[in-house]
Amino acid sequence: MIVPPSFGEHLLWTGGLWVALASLWAAICMWVDRDARKVFGQALPWNLIFAAIGVLLFVATWQAGLGPLVLFALLVPAFTLGYVALRDTKAKPTDKILSATFARRSGRKLAVRLGLERQFDRAFPAGASGGLTRTGPAPRIVLLKKDGTTVDGKGGGLDRETSQAVKTVQEMFLKAVDLRATDIHCEPKNNEEYVVRCRIDGILQNIVAFPADEGKAVISAMKVLGDMDIAEKRRPQDGTFTVLMEDRRFDVRAASAPTSFGEKMALRLLDADGGIVKGGLGAIGMKDSVVANLREIIQQPHGMLIVCGPTGSGKTTTLYSALSEIDVNSKNIITIEDPIEYRLEGISQTAVNVAAELTFAKILRSTLRQDPDVILIGEIRDKETAEIAMQAAMTGHFVFTTLHANDAPTTITRLLDIGVEATLIQSAVSAVLAQRLVRVLCPKCKQAVQLSDEIKQKWGIAAGKDVTVYQEKGCPSCNGTGFRGRTGLHELMIFDNSIRELLIGRPSMQTIRQASRKGGMKTLLEAGVGKVLAGITSVSEMQRVAK
Ligand SMILES: [Zn+2]
Repeated sequence: MIVPPSFGEHLLWTGGLWVALASLWAAICMWVDRDARKVFGQALPWNLIFAAIGVLLFVATWQAGLGPLVLFALLVPAFTLGYVALRDTKAKPTDKILSATFARRSGRKLAVRLGLERQFDRAFPAGASGGLTRTGPAPRIVLLKKDGTTVDGKGGGLDRETSQAVKTVQEMFLKAVDLRATDIHCEPKNNEEYVVRCRIDGILQNIVAFPADEGKAVISAMKVLGDMDIAEKRRPQDGTFTVLMEDRRFDVRAASAPTSFGEKMALRLLDADGGIVKGGLGAIGMKDSVVANLREIIQQPHGMLIVCGPTGSGKTTTLYSALSEIDVNSKNIITIEDPIEYRLEGISQTAVNVAAELTFAKILRSTLRQDPDVILIGEIRDKETAEIAMQAAMTGHFVFTTLHANDAPTTITRLLDIGVEATLIQSAVSAVLAQRLVRVLCPKCKQAVQLSDEIKQKWGIAAGKDVTVYQEKGCPSCNGTGFRGRTGLHELMIFDNSIRELLIGRPSMQTIRQASRKGGMKTLLEAGVGKVLAGITSVSEMQRVAK
């Protein structure tokens, strides 16, 4: 038997439903007010419509009870949906509600709240843009200002928007480190969108996009970190801060610059613990024969090793790897750098500061008074530095340095061009090491192919011979690029007697090249061919780097 609900029960139900609908209506009104201001620039017409619905709801239920309530339970969502559809036609692409991105974002937020983050990411992997989401538990990340204070997005005088942006910056660093990025660029693409790009294995890749408001807040958060003037948006500024992530430490150099759509920020990540250089010369992709020759050279009590290559060819890493093979306990090692890229224990490091008139040459002069055994000079850019360095190399010091030149023979002509005496080069320099970095094929997706006849002919391989090499494809593990990590190509030119004799007659590059090849030097190109035939890199990548 069904007992009809009592009048009291009826009132309770109607009242409850009424309160629920009224609260939902109030929440929707407040959201519409905020959203319409943002999307349409004004909220008044929308506020009137939604207020009218509410008043109608109130009056109708007062007069007619439960009946109209059901009607309104349908009306409120219907009007809301109508509003959403309309505002989406006006909203920025990244801000649309009826979109897959929004659905994923909201779903993920809910999943995070329910602790189902990992399951969600597995079921709905991020699209091509990747986003900042990551799988697995996030490592702890600490952002430190230059003076050592922590910026963690909780209070500290930051407004709500900035502290949210600090969290985004943390996510950004997690993702960047995960992808082995060396640089992060956050820049406005147009009036509506900011894009974040990371330099991975030497190539810039799009990582994520933000709506302009969020992008601007992220830039402000980074300026707080770098101790820059937040209000100053029209002049370039720079600053430094530190990122600590589990047992790793990154020094970050930040530089802001104005663009026509707003400020952009470039961040350089310096692996402050020098993770890569601790492995020594054996860990940077150098051939065993080159490693052996180089070790013999750098153990000499005096002389000079010049590492050359274009910007971003890993010169500094190689220099430090060589330096790390020298016993810090028995030798006094001093470095002069611009800037200090790796911190090494037991070594005294000084940074060049042109503003304070502390140039390479000036610091080098005072360094020589500190009785060094080994001196590392970040880069030789002028005659003065070159000459002091070479004098030092002839008088009981071993000097490591770099020079911006394409290959080993060009380095000699470069030095002669800036006005260094041939006799000085002849007696001071022990060897020149030229270097390039090629990307290593992703082991998970590289594809075997036959070497083309054209390349075989070029490389002097018999036409009939089957030669299997590998080419890049792209998979999730390599972020679709087909490559993971980089390795070095090296060309070591040892200054033997034949090279030294040549120098006197101001030789052409061609003559130097021929003489050093006769002396057994393997060229960058030959090193590249070796890496292709060993399946480490692809023909196209090697040709991109070593032409
Ligand atoms: Zn892959």
